[in-house]
Amino acid sequence: MNNVIKLLPDHVANQIAAGEVVQRPASVVKELLENSIDAGASQITLVIEDAGKSLIQVIDNGCGIPEQDVRLAFERHATSKISTAEDLFKIRTMGFRGEALASIAAVSQVDCISKTKDDQVATHLSLEAGKVVHQTHIAANQGTILSVKNLFYNIPARRNFLKSAQVEQKHIYEEFIKIALAHPDKRLKLINNDTEVFHLLPGNLKQRIHSLFGQKTADNLLAINEETSFVQLGGYVTTPTVAKKIRGEQYFFINKRYVRNTYLHHAIMTAYEGLIGPELFPSYFIFIEIDPSEIDVNIHPTKTEVKFRDERTVYHLLKSAAKRALGISAVGHVLDFEQ
Ligand code: ADP
Ligand code: MG
Repeated sequence: MNNVIKLLPDHVANQIAAGEVVQRPASVVKELLENSIDAGASQITLVIEDAGKSLIQVIDNGCGIPEQDVRLAFERHATSKISTAEDLFKIRTMGFRGEALASIAAVSQVDCISKTKDDQVATHLSLEAGKVVHQTHIAANQGTILSVKNLFYNIPARRNFLKSAQVEQKHIYEEFIKIALAHPDKRLKLINNDTEVFHLLPGNLKQRIHSLFGQKTADNLLAINEETSFVQLGGYVTTPTVAKKIRGEQYFFINKRYVRNTYLHHAIMTAYEGLIGPELFPSYFIFIEIDPSEIDVNIHPTKTEVKFRDERTVYHLLKSAAKRALGISAVGHVLDFEQ
C-alpha cells in the first residue's frame, strides 16, 4: 500500500506559510521595512507602484547580505538574528522567524541586490515563485535593494482577493507610518507611482509626529514619562481638545515594535474619562521599553501582538502616567483661561 502521509515539497510548504505572513501588499512592506531597520539602515526608501500590486521596492543603506548568504536568506527558517531557543526571550530585532523573505518570494517575483562593506561588488539574485532563476554581480552601493514584483501572480485566487488600490495603498501607508514613528532618527521616503509622498528627515519623535500628522497634533502633545525597575513608558498623549470623532491616531510600540493591545488601549481611555465625550477618540503615541525577557513576541506570525508577563502592572502604570500627563494639561488650560 502507498503511504498516505507525505511530506509536502518545499515550494508547497512555503506557499502555505506565505498565507500567514503575506496577506496583502502592506504585509510585504512591513516585513521589508523591518529587515532594513534590523540591518541598521539610517536611510530607507519605499517605492510602490499600483498600490504595491505591481511593485514594492525597499532600498536601504544597511549592512547588506554577504554574497554567500544571499540564497540562504530566501530559505524558510533562515535567519541571522537568533540561533538558540533561549534567544527567543532576548529579542531586540524586529525579525527572528526567518520566514518573511521565503514567504514573499514564494508568491511573487523578487530581485535582491545587496552589498556588504566587505564585498567588492553587489550580488543580484532573481527568484520566481521561490525558485532562483538568476544570480550575478552588479555595481551598487552598500545596502540592499529588494524589489517584489507582481505579488500573488502565481496564485490568481489570492490576487483577486485584494481590495481596491485605494484600500491597499492605505494599508501600505499605515505600515510606513508605524515604522516612521518608531524610528524618528532615520531618513525615510515613500514614493508612490513616481510621486514623493513622504520625505521624512531625521529628528525627534515630536518632529516626526509633526511631519506625519500636522501642526495641530504636534502642538497638542502631552509627554508621558514613567519609569520603574522593569518598564519605561514614554511618548505622548494628546490634549482632550483635539480628540476626534473618528478613531484617531493611536499607536503602541513595545521596544520599537508596533503592537495592537486592547487592554492597554483601555488604560488610556480610562485616563480620558470625564475629559472627552463618549463619541470622541484621543490620539496617542506610546512607547514601552521593557526587558525582552518580560514579554513574548512569538505568539503571532506577524508579531503585532505581544504577551506581557505582568500586563496588569503595565496597565496601571500607563493609566496613572496618562492621567498625570492629562492633569498637567488641565491646569494649563485653567491658567490660559484666567489670563
Ligand atoms: P528574519 O528577519 O526573521 O531574520 P527574513 O526572511 O525577513 O527573516 O530575512 C532573512 C535574513 O536575510 C535576515 O535574517 C537577514 O540576515 C537577511 N536580510 C533580509 N533583509 C535584509 C536587509 N534589508 N539587509 C540586510 N540583511 C537582510
Ligand atoms: Mg525579517
